[in-house]
Amino acid sequence: MSRNQKLYSTRRLVDAARERGHEVQVIDHLRCYMNIASHKPAVHYKGKPLSGFEAVIPRIGASATFYGTAVLRQFEMTGVFPLNESVAISRSRDKLRSLQLLSRRGIGMPVTGFAHSPDDTDDLLALVGGAPVVIKLIEGTQGVGVVLAETTQAAESVIEAFRGLHANFLVQEFITEARGADIRAFVIGNRVVAAMRRQAKEGEFRSNLHRGGSAQVVRLTPEERSTAIRSARIMGLNVAGVDLLRSNHGPVVMEVNSSPGLEGIEAATGKDVAGMIIAFIESNARPGKTRTRGTG
Ligand code: ADP
Repeated sequence: MSRNQKLYSTRRLVDAARERGHEVQVIDHLRCYMNIASHKPAVHYKGKPLSGFEAVIPRIGASATFYGTAVLRQFEMTGVFPLNESVAISRSRDKLRSLQLLSRRGIGMPVTGFAHSPDDTDDLLALVGGAPVVIKLIEGTQGVGVVLAETTQAAESVIEAFRGLHANFLVQEFITEARGADIRAFVIGNRVVAAMRRQAKEGEFRSNLHRGGSAQVVRLTPEERSTAIRSARIMGLNVAGVDLLRSNHGPVVMEVNSSPGLEGIEAATGKDVAGMIIAFIESNARPGKTRTRGTG
C-alpha cells in the first residue's frame, strides 16, 4: 500500500520483492473502497475486488493514517498478512499514546509533559525541569512544530501561542548533550538491521534529514540496541524506525515510526534494508496470522 509508486521506499520494496521472485502490485490506499457489511470481506480497487494476496506492506503517510489503517484492517479481515498491523500503526501515530505505552514499560525518554491549554504554565515548565525545553506540536512531522525555547520567557510565549491555537503539545527536557544528533535504529523483527546517526546542520538542533541534517553509519551500544528492539515490540511493530537521543542518563526514545523511510538508511549504511524486509515477510507471512485482526 503506497500512494505513489515512484517514491524511493516503494520502488525499493517492489524491486526487492521481484528480485526474490514475488509478484507485487502497488495499491493506492486512498483509491480503495470496501463493503464493510459484507460477510465476505474484500477490498475493492479500480472496479474489482483485490484477491490472491499473501502479504501487504503498508506505507501509510501521516496525512492518510485514518483511511489507510481502515483499508489495512479490511485486508487483515480477509486474512492477508500485514507487515505492520493496523492497530500498531494507529498506536504509533499518536505521540501521547506511544510515549505513555513506552514509559509504562520502563523505556527511557526525555522528561516529558503533555498539555492542551494549561492555566499553569509555570508548573508545567517546572515539571520537566525548566528551560531550556523543547516544545512540540503533537501532530508535527519532519521537525515542523518542534521549537527549542532557551529561556523560561521564550517557553512561556511559545506555550501561549500553541494554547491560542487550541493545539495539543508536549514540553520536553532539552537533551543538550545530544548536540544536535539523533540515532535512527531500523528494527526488523527482533533485530536492529541498520542504524545511522543524523547530525543537524550548523546552528540547528533538529537533525531531520529534511531539514538539512546529514547521516552516517553508527555502531549502537547493546543498551541502545535493546531499547530500540523493546520499543518496537511494545508498539507491536514488526518493522520500525526508532529514534533515540544519547543522553547523560542513557538512550532516550523520541519516536517510533511505523513507515520508516529507506532512502536515508540505505544510503548511510549501504545495506539492502528492502531485501531484509521481504525476507522477513517470507519467513513470517501466514494467512490469518494477525495478532489483532484489526480489532482491539
Ligand atoms: P519529528 O517527529 O517532527 O521529526 P522530533 O520529535 O523527532 O520531531 O524532533 C525533531 C528533531 O529535533 C529530532 O530529530 C532531534 O534531533 C531534535 N529533538 C527533538 N526533541 C529533542 C529533545 N528533547 N532534546 C534534544 N533534541 C531534540
